[in-house]
Order: sequence, then C-alpha cells, then structure tokens
Amino acid sequence: MTSAEQLALLGGAPAVEQPLPHEVWPPPAEPAELSELAEQRNTDISIKGNSGPIGQLETDFLAFLNGGARFAVTFNSGTSALLAAYFALGVREGVDVVGPALTYHAALSPVFALRGDVVLADIDPDTRGLDPKALQAALTEHTKVITVVHQWGHPCDMDAILRIAERNGLRVLEDCSHAHGSHYKGKPVGTFGDAAVFSLQANKAVYAGEGGILVTSDPGVHDRATLLGHYRDRSRDTVIDEDLRAHWVTGFGLKLRMSPFNAIVARHALAAFPARKEARHRCLRHLGAQLGDVTYLEPVHVADHVDMGAWYGYKPLYRPAELGGVPRSVLIEALRAEGMEVGAPSGPRLSTLPLYAHPENPLFPGVPKKGIAPGTGSHAEYVEQHALSLPTFTNWPEDTTLIDQYAEAFRKIGRHREALVRYAAGPSR
Ligand SMILES: *Cc1c(COP(=O)(O)O)cnc(C)c1O
Repeated sequence: MTSAEQLALLGGAPAVEQPLPHEVWPPPAEPAELSELAEQRNTDISIKGNSGPIGQLETDFLAFLNGGARFAVTFNSGTSALLAAYFALGVREGVDVVGPALTYHAALSPVFALRGDVVLADIDPDTRGLDPKALQAALTEHTKVITVVHQWGHPCDMDAILRIAERNGLRVLEDCSHAHGSHYKGKPVGTFGDAAVFSLQANKAVYAGEGGILVTSDPGVHDRATLLGHYRDRSRDTVIDEDLRAHWVTGFGLKLRMSPFNAIVARHALAAFPARKEARHRCLRHLGAQLGDVTYLEPVHVADHVDMGAWYGYKPLYRPAELGGVPRSVLIEALRAEGMEVGAPSGPRLSTLPLYAHPENPLFPGVPKKGIAPGTGSHAEYVEQHALSLPTFTNWPEDTTLIDQYAEAFRKIGRHREALVRYAAGPSR
C-alpha cells in the first residue's frame, strides 16, 4: 500500500483499469452461424412442425443431457415453456405449486394464468435453492407440483426433494434457466424431475436470443405441453396419445413456437458451450481463490457433489459486521467507483411483488390465494439483502488481469474500512 492510495470513491485512482462493460454476453456470432442464418432466410422463415433447425436443436439438447430425458420441445421463451409445463403437470384452479421464495419470478408466475396458486417456501442459504425442510412445511392438501430452481447455477438438494415428492405423490418441475450444464452427483440437472425447462434468453449460458426448451421423459407431459403451444403439423406428427392427437388442428389454442432463426443461434451456442463452461470455471476459480482473505465476503459455497455448469454470475454474500456496518449500497457505490461491474442481484423476494402479494389472483378476481410467504428473518430475505452480483467472466486467459484487479479492489476496500465507515456516516451523501 502506498501512502498516496485512496479509495476511488474519495478521489483515488480506481483499482480496475479496463472500461465497462466487463460482461459482454452473448458473444458475437462466428461466420458459420451468420451464413446459416442467411441461408435459412431464403429456405424457410416459418416453421414446419419440428423440421430443420428446430428438430436439430431438440436432438442436440437431448444429447447435451446425456440421454437423461426422452423428449425435448422448443418454445418461444422460457416463460412459455414453463406455462406449458405447468399446464401439462395438471396445474389449474384449486392446485398449489410450492416454489422458492427468492428466484426470478417467471419460474412461478405462469401458474396464475392457469388459476393455480403459488406457495412460497424458504431457501437454503448454501444452495440458494428450495430448502427441503421449508418445502416439507409448506405442503398443503392442494399441493400437486414442486418447482425447484437451480439458482445461479447451483443444483438444489435433489435427493431430499425427490424423497419428499415421492412420499407425498407430487410432481417435480426443474427450472434450469441458470444451470445449463450443472450436474448433481454426476447427473445433469433437468433429468431429475417430471419435467424441466431451460430458458434460452440472451443472458443465459446457452442462448437463442428469445427461446426456451422443455424436456421430459413422460409421454403425457410431452403430449399436453406440445398441444398447448404447437397446433397443426407438430401436434399431428408427434403427439403420441391418439385421443389427444385428435386435437392436432387446434391444439389447445395457443401458438408458442420458437422461430428457426432462434433455433440456429441456440444450436451454435450449445456447440460452443463446453469450451465456454471450462473457461468460466477457470475464471471463477481464479477469482474465488483470491477472495479467501477478504473477510467481509462470504465465498460462494459449492458442494463437493456439484458441478456448477456455467455459474450465471458470481454471487458472494456481504458480511457488513466485518466492514464496520457499512450498508451494502455504499459498498456497491465504492466498488463501482473502483471500476467494477457490480450490483445487487436483480430479483426481489417474490412475496414483495404485487402478483404474489395480492390476496386474490389478480388475473381472475375472486380466485383466492394463500399468500404463504417467508418474510422477515427468512434466508430468502438474508440472501436478497446481502448478495453481490459480479460478472461471470468467460474469457480465459484474457480476463486474468481484470479478475486480479477485481480481487485487488475488494482488498483495497478492506484496507480503507475506516474511511468508508466515515463516508457512509458523513453528510456528503
Ligand atoms: C430467464 C428465466 C426465466 C424466464 O425465461 P425467458 O426465456 O426470459 O422467458 C425463468 N426462470 C428463470 C430462473 C430464469 O432465469
């Protein structure tokens, strides 16, 4: 430490030199992807069932899951795929879905469009996903579906959750939108539940731009999900049950298909994924190894039996007591002044959103809701209020210097704890 060193917040030189943005995602397309897109423009800009790049993407995706699921059906978004999954799993008026109190809302919001109800259960502070004990306590006589979200890439405690599901005759939906390529005890996520959905939206590790994919091994789930979003050719050609197939002309009234252009983008992203996953692991191992002596951060826990896939951001927890009680917002302000791309994770606890907090289903006034929601004192609240969101970093070894400077910025803040405490208390704010 030179005596001249000062927090950038107070006029010193920033620790991170590279200008923003640091997380550039999705990466630009290679020429092969661009020429395939151009060719598709003149071959077919519409969709014929699951032909062409749509069927190819679905085949590739099943291979990506090591044959752990029998069927894959693409949709125009992860949210659409979740709607189809909930419909296929039997969600309707009078049915409760139990899901995590802190996650991206779209994991559960489609339940309301089917007149179902969501019961929120607390999360496990280590996995940041559904806590099995809280799940058990949240079950009602109307519960039919458990939704797990492998939050920020870390798989949920699937052994315990599947035991609860089996004991109670419940179905399990995995939302794997943060967890492409994550494994639990050697098995890819998306192959544990009755159905799984992966969003392929632009921010996700495998991206179509806009898109989602539903996977299942249950022919009944496959048929009903297909009919909900894919009338005509695809329903005629792929729905297995004859009575259900009779509806092929109309399906169940909705058209939620992926465009072939998005499928082409997603196929290329999937092909590039293994190398990117490896690069992310190298980057984040390099970062994590340097944060051990930053006492005001609780490192991200990764269980031994877990492979973090593509991570979906690096989200350590802040320990304010180790930094003189400085509020998280001030810490973020100081880190940003040092040149870092850092913030609080974007999603609030679901119980704070009007769709969840309202005593009736706002889409269908008169349909009551239970509103069971972990509030003050929950792990969900703790993580919501203490997590920091850092870039995932994907360029190895190009990002090494940048990562080193992030680690240095964290250490620098620690060295200037007193100055930051004074700043936080001062009238200048
Ligand atoms: C992104 C995301 C969704 C929604 O997917 P879209 O493709 O944006 O509709 C659902 N659940 C989780 C956990 C997500 O991160």
